[in-house]
Amino acid sequence: MSVLFTARFHTTVAQTRQLPRVDLPEIAFAGRSNAGKSSAINVLCQRRRLAFSSRTPGRTQALNFFAIGPGEEPSAFLVDTPGYGYAAAPQAVRGAWDALAGRYLGQRAALRGVVLTVDSRRLVTELDRKLLGWLAPTLPVLVLLTKSDKLGYAERMAAYRAAIAQLEELRPGADLSVILFSVTDRVGLEQARAVIEGWLARARQGRAHDGSGPAVHQGRVVPTATEEPADTENSPADGTEAPR
Ligand code: GDP
Repeated sequence: MSVLFTARFHTTVAQTRQLPRVDLPEIAFAGRSNAGKSSAINVLCQRRRLAFSSRTPGRTQALNFFAIGPGEEPSAFLVDTPGYGYAAAPQAVRGAWDALAGRYLGQRAALRGVVLTVDSRRLVTELDRKLLGWLAPTLPVLVLLTKSDKLGYAERMAAYRAAIAQLEELRPGADLSVILFSVTDRVGLEQARAVIEGWLARARQGRAHDGSGPAVHQGRVVPTATEEPADTENSPADGTEAPR
C-alpha cells in the first residue's frame, strides 16, 4: 500500500506566516489551472475529493496541506498550490499568487520535490517555464503529462519526447522525471507514486544521516518510456516573474 493513501487534510495556509513550523518533508503540486492537478492528487492518493479545483477562476489562492504517514502523527506533507494562468484573474489575485505560492515554491526549505501537471496537448507553456525558473536548481521535479488519454499512441509518444526535450533544456542536469499520465485511463499512477515515495525515502535518509533536514539530491532520473506509452532556497530575486 502506498503511503499516499493515508493522505488527509491538515491545514490551509493563506499567508506565509501560517506555514507549519514542523520539520517534515513537503512535496508540492503545481500547475496551470485546468491542467488536471486536483484530479492527479485525488487519484494518486485514492481519495475522491481530497483536492478540489475552484470553479471560479483564480479564487483559491491558499496552500492546502495534506498530511501523510501512518498513525496520528504526519511523516510528511503534500502541498496543493493554487493553479496559475487564469487569463481572467485580476491583478490582485496574481499578486497574491506571487506573495504566497511563488515564495513558498521558491524558498521553502522543507520542499523535497515538485510535481508539475502539464497538459499533454499543450506541453510546457510560458507560465510553466516561469514556475520552473523559480524553483531551486537542485529540487527534483516530476512532470505529469496529463490527459494523455486524449491523444493517440503516436501523438502521446511525440508529446513525451517533446516534453523531455523542453525540460532538459530548461533544467539541464537536474533531477527530472516525465510520465505520461491519465486519470481517466489510470495510466502512470504507479510510476508517479514511486517517484514521490522515492523523494520521501531520500528525505528520511537525509535526516537519519545528519539530522539537519534537507538532503539535497543532485542525481538524475532518466525518463523512461515503456512499450505501453503509458508510463513511463532559491528566490525570485533575479527579477523573474512568477507564473500567474
Ligand atoms: P486543475 O484545475 O489543474 O486542478 O484541474 P482538474 O483536476 O480540476 O481538471 C480539469 C478538467 O480536466 C476536469 O474537467 C477534469 O475532469 C479533466 N481531467 C483531469 N484529468 C484528466 C484526464 O486524465 N483525462 C481527461 N480526459 N480529463 C481529465
